[in-house]
Amino acid sequence: MIFISSQVSDGNMDFRFGPTQEVLQNRKKFFEKWVRNDEIAELEQIHSNKVVVVKEHPDPNTKGDALISNNPNFVLMVKVADCIPVGLYDPQNKAIGLIHAGSKGLQKGIIKNAIQKMKKHFGSNPKNLLAKLGPSIGPCHYRLNIWQEAEKQLIDCGILKENMDNPKICTYENMNYFSHRRAEDTNQKEGRFVTILGLKNVN
Ligand SMILES: [Zn+2]
Repeated sequence: MIFISSQVSDGNMDFRFGPTQEVLQNRKKFFEKWVRNDEIAELEQIHSNKVVVVKEHPDPNTKGDALISNNPNFVLMVKVADCIPVGLYDPQNKAIGLIHAGSKGLQKGIIKNAIQKMKKHFGSNPKNLLAKLGPSIGPCHYRLNIWQEAEKQLIDCGILKENMDNPKICTYENMNYFSHRRAEDTNQKEGRFVTILGLKNVN
C-alpha cells in the first residue's frame, strides 16, 4: 500500500492554479517516482459528501470528494492545500478509500459516507480499517480543529484509535506543502499538492 503526498518542490498539481503543460509535467514526474504506469483516478472536488466507486477510469470531471476502490491498478488521488486527505486501507478485503475532507465535507459527513460505501461494496469492517491522515491545516492556524474533527468522526464510525495515524503536519506553517490560507494571508500564488493512495507497494 502506498499513501504519500507531493510537496511544493514537486510543483503545483492542480490545473486551476497553473498552466496545463506545467501541471502535466509536475504530475508526470511525481507519478514516475511513485506509481509507474498505474491509472490515476481523481475527481472534481466540490466539498461535498459524495463518494465515487472507481471501476473503470473515472472522468476527472466527475464531481465528488472521496474515491473507493479494490482494483490494484488504480491509484486514487486528491488535491489539497489545508483540507485533510484521509486514506483508508482494508487489508482483509484489499480495498482502499481516499477522502478530501475540509470543514464543509466533514460537516456533510464525507468520512461516514466513504466508510459506509466501503462496507457496502467491499464488505469492509471499520474495526479492520487503517486510517492515514495527511498534511492539513492545524488548530494553530485555523479556527476549526480539522485534525480532531476528522479523528472523532473516524472513531464514531468504528475505526480503532490504534489503527489511526495522524502526523499532524500543519500545512500553513510547513513550507513543504501548499496552503490556501497562507497564500491568501501573504498574497502569494495558490497551488495544490496531491495525496495518492494505491494498493500496490512502492516501486
Ligand atoms: Zn499551524
